[in-house]
Amino acid sequence: INIEMMFKIVHFHQKKKNIKMERLVEVESVSFEEDNTEVSLRPSNWDDYIGQEKIKKNLKVFIEASKKRKEALDHILFYGPPGLGKTTLSYLISNEMNTNIKVTAGPMIEKSGDLAAILTNLEEGDILFIDEIHRLSPTVEEILYPAMEDYRLDIIIGSGPAAQTVKIDLPRFTLIGATTRAGMLSNPLRERFGMHFRMQFYNQDELSKIIQKAAFKLSKSCENDAAFEISRRSRGTPRVALRLLKRVRDFAEVENENHIHLSRCKYALDELGVNESGFDEMDINLLELLISNRGKPMGLSTMAAALSEDEGTIEDAIEPYLLANGYIERTARGRVASLKTYEMFRLSYPNSEKLDSDLSQGKLF
Ligand code: ADP
Repeated sequence: INIEMMFKIVHFHQKKKNIKMERLVEVESVSFEEDNTEVSLRPSNWDDYIGQEKIKKNLKVFIEASKKRKEALDHILFYGPPGLGKTTLSYLISNEMNTNIKVTAGPMIEKSGDLAAILTNLEEGDILFIDEIHRLSPTVEEILYPAMEDYRLDIIIGSGPAAQTVKIDLPRFTLIGATTRAGMLSNPLRERFGMHFRMQFYNQDELSKIIQKAAFKLSKSCENDAAFEISRRSRGTPRVALRLLKRVRDFAEVENENHIHLSRCKYALDELGVNESGFDEMDINLLELLISNRGKPMGLSTMAAALSEDEGTIEDAIEPYLLANGYIERTARGRVASLKTYEMFRLSYPNSEKLDSDLSQGKLF
């Protein structure tokens, strides 16, 4: 890190201190609020699950086929950024298959014994959902291989020359793995999933429908253009759309309004600091950081240091939307801001004298 970069890091830290960094468009984990809301907004049937049409179509075929054969569904891997509906889909599958679903997450399974206990408690046809499956430890992962392939548990008892392997038969179950990073999954694990599905960001029509349905469940009606306004600022992510809807509803409720209309919606979203493109301070900070590097690629670790974020959060939660929508580009040597971003900030493209003069006059920050 050179002096210039040090300066930028200090600058960003100072800037961050002055900003309330609660991330309204946070997409990371399922929040307490999400699961404890007065009514569940999680869709419980295919019709309420909007979008991801290709995945739904394929899944319906596989579900019907396995029901006909009276067999457990093949193991499924969902990958893509958080908040796009991986957990929800898994619940829907268990509904359709008429089976139980057990839900856990990679970091919660610390020892191989933990996984063995979960597996031996499954019943025929059950679904085991493991979120963040890329975070399983290698020793735990090894238990999964024979379990997935041959429905068998290999347990080693004792150590050294006296060690013995005990084989236990398991019921035929379906493992559904979800990960934000398919690249971090080991090859042997990835290969043991019969179906791989990549989740897509949602378009504005789809998000508007999700918002309308959720508003109805919350006993509110939502004007079409208000729903569209929320969807426009939701970073293509249902979890964000629902969170914004709930906050807008708070603003409406304080004014005793049962109907969410565009002007209240715009007012609330502006008050909440969610900008026109759905970017919050975190996105803007990241884009500004890249622009301030004057077109030179910046490595992930430098970005993480400058933004005081861990690399995983940047890669999983902030970057995917910016990449998918062409605001940043990834090169072999790091990330750069794209022309679209320069245009959004009304700046000339890097290496131009105008950008240099804008930066030196501190116009950007
Ligand atoms: P993930 O597991 O990918 O992080 P979730 O399944 O927890 O995401 O979804 C986050 C929230 O968004 C849930 O509350 C769910 O109700 C909602 N949601 C996700 N996908 C859809 C969809 N396709 N249609 C309607 N609501 C959705």
